[in-house]
Amino acid sequence: MAEREETGWPSDWSERIAGKDCPMCRDLGKGDKEHAVHVYDGTVTEVHLARRTAVRGYCVVTWKGPHVADPTDLAPDDAARYWMDVLEVGRAVRAVYDPVKVNYLLLGNWVPHLHTHVVPRYLDDPAPGGPLSWERLVEVPPTPAEQLHREAEALRAAVSGPTSD
Ligand SMILES: [Zn+2]
Repeated sequence: MAEREETGWPSDWSERIAGKDCPMCRDLGKGDKEHAVHVYDGTVTEVHLARRTAVRGYCVVTWKGPHVADPTDLAPDDAARYWMDVLEVGRAVRAVYDPVKVNYLLLGNWVPHLHTHVVPRYLDDPAPGGPLSWERLVEVPPTPAEQLHREAEALRAAVSGPTSD
């Protein structure tokens, strides 16, 4: 993979947008990853829990269909399924972690494969009342794997559990 440049988009950006050597496509269906443990598969997504996070419960929801860069690249039915999966993760995160707010980030400025960062926010998190920078979010020691797997189990239970209606 090309080195991150000081400013500007990576030199192979158009190839990345097209999915060439996409690391997220490559890792689909492979369970735990270097940076995250597998939680469950949604209808059209895979859900992972980040190993390094300043806020407990930070999940990444990844589109598991053929490579696309943005939600606008999806057909309407697939786009609806994608958002329903994202919302389901948001509900599970609220049920398990009781955050004061949940942030939904669609970035993909380095790996442009459709995914959404579901980031719970807390009263005492590193940037109360404002956006949490990437550095503050992930530049912390990894959570022990045992704890992450326990949390993944709780999230799965929240998703499959009874709804309020
Ligand atoms: Zn991809």
